[in-house]
Amino acid sequence: MIPELHVAGDQYFLPVCVYLDENPRVMFGKRTTQSPLRAWVCGDCGYTELYATQVKRIVSLHQRIQQKQRKARDQPETGT
Ligand SMILES: [Zn+2]
Repeated sequence: MIPELHVAGDQYFLPVCVYLDENPRVMFGKRTTQSPLRAWVCGDCGYTELYATQVKRIVSLHQRIQQKQRKARDQPETGT
């Protein structure tokens, strides 16, 4: 395995990232978190695995989203 290769999306070598939106329906004032990806490549066959380098960021936003959804389910908005 050749470890920790950079994964870049274009000629400027910007890293390829995974993104998580707190609320995908909101157009402005988005709270988004991201993590660049790193690749481990097999030197024999080229089999490649991708890893998120900032996975804690993704996890903490994911947990916040789940808490919000749980709260919304437990306390449904009351219509007037
Ligand atoms: Zn292989």
